[in-house]
Amino acid sequence: MKRVWPLALALVACAPAASKPPAIIRECSYDVELKPEGRAHVEATCRADGAVSFRVAHRYLKKSVSFAGPAHGGKLSYEVDLARLAGSGRDFDRALRVGDSFVAPMSSVLLVPEPLSTEIPVKVRVHAAAPIAVSVGLARDAAPETYRLFAHEIPVATYFAFGKLQQRTLAVGGGRLEVTRLDGELDQSFEDVSRWVETSARAVHDFYGAFPVPRAQVTIIPVPGRDAVVFGKVLPESSPGVALLLGQHAPARALYSDWILVHELFHLGFPSFYEEGKWLDEGLATYYEPIIRARAGLYSEAELWDEFLSSMPQGVDAFTRSGLEHATDFRGVYWGGAIACLVADVEARKRRPSAGLEVGLRALREAGGNACEVWSLAQAMGAVDHALGAPTLAPIAARHARRGSAFDLAALFADLGVTRDRQGKLALSNTAPLAAVRRAITANP
Ligand SMILES: [Zn+2]
Repeated sequence: MKRVWPLALALVACAPAASKPPAIIRECSYDVELKPEGRAHVEATCRADGAVSFRVAHRYLKKSVSFAGPAHGGKLSYEVDLARLAGSGRDFDRALRVGDSFVAPMSSVLLVPEPLSTEIPVKVRVHAAAPIAVSVGLARDAAPETYRLFAHEIPVATYFAFGKLQQRTLAVGGGRLEVTRLDGELDQSFEDVSRWVETSARAVHDFYGAFPVPRAQVTIIPVPGRDAVVFGKVLPESSPGVALLLGQHAPARALYSDWILVHELFHLGFPSFYEEGKWLDEGLATYYEPIIRARAGLYSEAELWDEFLSSMPQGVDAFTRSGLEHATDFRGVYWGGAIACLVADVEARKRRPSAGLEVGLRALREAGGNACEVWSLAQAMGAVDHALGAPTLAPIAARHARRGSAFDLAALFADLGVTRDRQGKLALSNTAPLAAVRRAITANP
């Protein structure tokens, strides 16, 4: 449901206490050979002017990594037992096995070189003997089977999958969407699942006016016995990948009426923040996902306003009392953030109904603010407000981010013409003062 935070920056190593100046690593390369039983054999080589060591990106990996010997001359040979790491669980952020296939983040097989800096280019070759198929979400390098990222990105590096896979590449606008389906039973054919991914991606494309990134990977992970879309997550580096748990018995209508995939694909078009702004990141995705689906004909205007009217009050406490930056739960972060986005959208459209908050989001994305980039909250809000031609997000953040301020959400819904009758049924009024703004929100640009 959420994009992982770029923890990588927090892991930049301090200089060691030794009297010698620390080594400077110039570049690293990893050769990852995948075996059918779920083992990865890795040869890591770093070119440096001093001693290089390696550590696991996450503590839970320790038990699954075995070494042929200590690191020497910038080289280390090791094996990762992904089958052991997967166990019988469903945590694709460590490793997950479905039938004869595996999915894991690259951080499960790439040890982090030290001393770490933000300047170390890494090349990764990932390969397996036939008939094992391989799918890697990292940015591609020129050489075959080879990908690139920076060493500090390893902890948030995207997913890879291998084993018995089905794969297809979709062209969506100027973007390439690589869809991979793991082994395991699904009632829907791969063709039908791919069509749903394409429909969702096109809806997001139409919102941004382009597919948000040049290339993205979507990994479909079947979940036995379930009948819905279960969970999704984006890992952003060095090219974003979406991992999606899909219930074995999910019917087509459960796919097209679900929110998770559009929410995750929306995230691709907005920058990552570090230790701030989660409310804006998740608030935007929460606010725009139903709007994107309504514009694509996958959700009705009435369903959308019914959802906002029912769910947004969950965020009022964070918006008016604690402040959005202090929110820690789904209600405060997602729905509190969504209130901020609705208020910003309405403010922008009061000036010009056809120029909502999304005008700023498109400009931000065109300026390079996508999921692979880390921006500051102030920088992102500044770019949006600049494109809108007036302070819009910044004043809302000033009132509701670090602290809460009074706000009457019910009055805003009434002005938009969104109310309930005595039976609790949604009523949309076209004579309300902001009815034109409300209609503009779901209209295609
Ligand atoms: Zn999210």
